[in-house]
Amino acid sequence: MGVSGFAYISPSTKEETLTVLSEAGEKGRIVAGSTNVLPDIRARKIAGCILVDISHLRELKGIEIAGDTVTIGSLTTISELLQSAVIAKEAGVLWQACRCFADPLVRNRATIGGNIANASPAADGVVPLLALEATVNVESKARGKRAIPLDEFFTGPGKSVLEPGELITSVSFAKTSAMKSAFIKFGLRKAMAISLASIGMVVGFNGDTIARVSIALGALAPTPVRARETEKYLAGKKIDDEIIARASELIKTEVNPISDVRASRDYRQHLTGVLFRRAIEAALA
Ligand SMILES: Cc1cc2nc3c(=O)[nH]c(=O)nc-3n(C[C@H](O)[C@H](O)[C@H](O)COP(=O)(O)OP(=O)(O)OC[C@H]3O[C@@H](n4cnc5c(N)ncnc54)[C@H](O)[C@@H]3O)c2cc1C
Repeated sequence: MGVSGFAYISPSTKEETLTVLSEAGEKGRIVAGSTNVLPDIRARKIAGCILVDISHLRELKGIEIAGDTVTIGSLTTISELLQSAVIAKEAGVLWQACRCFADPLVRNRATIGGNIANASPAADGVVPLLALEATVNVESKARGKRAIPLDEFFTGPGKSVLEPGELITSVSFAKTSAMKSAFIKFGLRKAMAISLASIGMVVGFNGDTIARVSIALGALAPTPVRARETEKYLAGKKIDDEIIARASELIKTEVNPISDVRASRDYRQHLTGVLFRRAIEAALA
């Protein structure tokens, strides 16, 4: 890798990786697709680490279905998700989000595990997984295996409950082929922009009544969040213009966006209602 000031280790199995990470402790820094790690090294945001390169570990790649559950290995790339018929059919919201993710070059390297671990409030892989009510599967020498619900995983921008030595091995969720999905990202440019706001939605209908809905929002709070009050309001309702209008007001009260150079807090709040309306209309279409 030739990055001075860093030690570099490339373990050949998952077991060896867990041992290396356990010995490295706080200094260990996993490298998967390196689309976040390399820019962070260049910007000197991280220094003096032991880089643990897992990018070649086959054990952490691929998409599997067992019964009703879809499991995605943490090293699966965004391109691989986009090419997967299983993801297109069983996790439409994730597939749609992958289409909005960066450009093909970045998608070929960026992994779903790296997107989760990076813990950006705007992460385009995380928002759909939150709408899918996914579970993050992690492993370490110290704590063994843990399954963490994704909505308990993030604690703030760039922060999560992941402890030093812990490796994300996969992420899993229930199939959603019987449900409708929508993902919409609003950026200042198309895919290469960081989201100003994004929404992922999975809706199950019983005739023309909403039986179940999950809604996740990106870049609208310190972490990606579920819009639980709006979900509760919509459950059991027959969708019409008035219900959509009320829900698009309610959802604005569920976000806590920042003001920054790209947009004000008020504008982001307004966008939340607009995105909701577009997402439910797309899911119904
Ligand atoms: C030009 C450009 C455009 C981008 N566009 C987008 C975009 O549109 N949407 C978006 O969401 N992101 C975007 N990103 C950010 C980035 O590509 C994603 O967050 C990507 O998914 C990170 O995955 P990676 O494999 O490259 O992670 P890495 O850079 O290898 O790692 C990221 C972080 O996760 C940790 N990590 C990685 N794998 C694991 C694991 N298995 N277990 C535990 N910790 C792990 C690393 O230690 C590091 O802290 C962009 C980046 C660039 C450079």
